[in-house]
Amino acid sequence: MEKIFNRLNESQTNAVKQTEGPVLILAGAGSGKTTTIISRLAYLIEVIGIPASNTLTLTFTNKAAKEMKERSLAMIENVAYPPLLCTFHKFGLLFLKFNIHLLNRKNNFVVIDTDDKKRIIKKINSELPTPLIASEISRYKNSLLTPDDAYKQAELFNYKQIAEVYREYENYLNENNLVDFDDLIALTYKLLNDNPELAKTTSQKYQYIMIDEYQDTNELQLKLIQKLCTSHNNICVVGDDDQSIYGWRGAHIRNIMEFDQDFLGANVYKLEENYRSRSPILKVANALIEHNRSRLGKKLLSTRGGGDDVTTLNSNDENEEARKIATKIGKLLESGVRAKEIAVLYRVNVLSRSIEEGLNRAGIAYKLVGGLRFYDRAEIKDLISYIRVITNNHDDFSLKRIVNKPKRGLGKASVDKIELAAHANETSIYEYIKNSDISTLEGLVKKKNSLTLKEFVKNIDMVAKAALESTYEFIDLLEDTFHLKDIYKGTQDESDRILNMDEFYGLFRDFIKKSPDSSLDEFLNELTLQSEQDQVEGESIYMMSIHASKGLEFEHVFIIGLEEGFLPLIGDGSDLEEERRLGYVSMTRAKETLTLSHAASRFYKGRRSDLQKSRFFNEAGLCDGSLIVEKNTAFKKGDLVRHKVFGTGRVAGVSRAGREFKLNINFAGTKRDILASFVERL
Ligand code: ATP
Ligand code: MG
Repeated sequence: MEKIFNRLNESQTNAVKQTEGPVLILAGAGSGKTTTIISRLAYLIEVIGIPASNTLTLTFTNKAAKEMKERSLAMIENVAYPPLLCTFHKFGLLFLKFNIHLLNRKNNFVVIDTDDKKRIIKKINSELPTPLIASEISRYKNSLLTPDDAYKQAELFNYKQIAEVYREYENYLNENNLVDFDDLIALTYKLLNDNPELAKTTSQKYQYIMIDEYQDTNELQLKLIQKLCTSHNNICVVGDDDQSIYGWRGAHIRNIMEFDQDFLGANVYKLEENYRSRSPILKVANALIEHNRSRLGKKLLSTRGGGDDVTTLNSNDENEEARKIATKIGKLLESGVRAKEIAVLYRVNVLSRSIEEGLNRAGIAYKLVGGLRFYDRAEIKDLISYIRVITNNHDDFSLKRIVNKPKRGLGKASVDKIELAAHANETSIYEYIKNSDISTLEGLVKKKNSLTLKEFVKNIDMVAKAALESTYEFIDLLEDTFHLKDIYKGTQDESDRILNMDEFYGLFRDFIKKSPDSSLDEFLNELTLQSEQDQVEGESIYMMSIHASKGLEFEHVFIIGLEEGFLPLIGDGSDLEEERRLGYVSMTRAKETLTLSHAASRFYKGRRSDLQKSRFFNEAGLCDGSLIVEKNTAFKKGDLVRHKVFGTGRVAGVSRAGREFKLNINFAGTKRDILASFVERL
């Protein structure tokens, strides 16, 4: 009991003890929301005596889930089964394993990642832009629209086309027993919605539900949560409207605002002290987010007191930036800071490359979370495709990827012929080859190729049987039978790729050791979910996108690419307020020091471009002289500006005020001195 409460303030304690009925905890970054949720979980189990298996705690990223699990288990003393604490997607995966048969599908489905999704779409339609179709399909699924619905809704011809692609895409997933990320949640909801009895029993199982980062839930997730609350209303959510960063994925702070309407009788708690960041960091983050208009507005006071000022790092280009950051990190490490307490964050993944090079040169180990993903590398996808075909022979998509890897003399034309024949016979490529005799195959492809195909199928069969007997030994047999390391023989980066393959084999063995009863498809699905986030553990610094950093904290944080166009990202559909929230999220990850880095030019999309320093420096109260003179982002005499209280005015003079700039502004005849960070240029 003491373990649970000794580090909670009064509001946190009250929220923890309010176990019955809906609870909303609304509070700023670092105010102890996640701590409260975890303590509540421990309280339910340790003090109230709720069986761990009757609780469900959901969050958004694997890394956050992992940390929450560790933190909660440290508080819970004797627990036979750990509570289910995972991401929404993982919950969907587990649920579908048990229930997908109700949709007449087998539970050895394979989860495909974004890259697979795009390849499938491209195969169906290569005219329209694939990313557009992919995001539309995602939107349809999140709005629970079937292909028919989507077709009916579409007004423009192109959208009718997209709805058609959606239909074929769905057929393809069904035929190959594949499930995409959106399905993990959409199908789970569908099952619960179509089967009231299942909704009831599921809800009775999860009697206490807790959700972190509620501001990032979308409409579908809300609906799913409501289904899980069919037989009770013990739902506790925590969130921060200023940290809503998934607007582009349909997340809606409406879910926070109207929580008391979705769950009647809600108790609301506010937390107003920040326990994470030194006050200069908090001051900068607060100043930035103040520029957003649509916000609930919350108090957030520093409890940790003063510390180093926020540092601005100006570089000429990305290489200089990388060198400077590597040097700074090197010094931190020398001074005894633990590597895992240092993070480099960026808005877009491409920015990581130069920093990676800089760190490599400086011999500093780093862990890349998400982004350029281990699992996205061609050689790893090859291995995964082999395992997919072995677990699901009907996965034509994966089979086509590997049938000629390593080279077996099979051209694309031959494979296409076999595929056509298989489709005409309403069967998969694999089954078709297996069930046809040599003479039939010879009618389609060369004799030599027919034999190769037969041999290939026979080998897959053999390895699949072996996998059923011993999953652990399977991986050696796979390599010995198919010589996968030969795929890249003679290529320039052969040794790199072989290293990666060995690492994959190592991960596989590790997984089987940890859960010896697992089947191959369990391994595959786990992998697909993990691939978005986690990488190998060890003592190294972290590099990740701002999105992936949500909910985490580090002693020292470097944010790179603070330039107009990168942060804020400016482009189709970008939303300045959401960009500011991303700025706020990234800054509030820091406990001790925060470094904001800007480069005057970057090599990007094949050419070097000049860049302007991000307006966020100015908004966060961090402008410097050179910025004002050199870059036309700051204020000069004659500018029209807007102030929150005094309205519109014209700048009559600019002068220095310490590290800031002071503007003399004429508001309808009255001149006032105002700090530059408190006004917005019109
Ligand atoms: P975010 O909005 O970034 O998700 P959060 O509100 O979830 O932040 P936590 O991660 O729970 O905040 O807590 C931030 C830090 O403050 C953690 O290091 C945590 O251990 C510490 N903390 C939380 N509550 C208290 C408290 N009452 N006293 C002292 N430290 C606390
Ligand atoms: Mg949190």
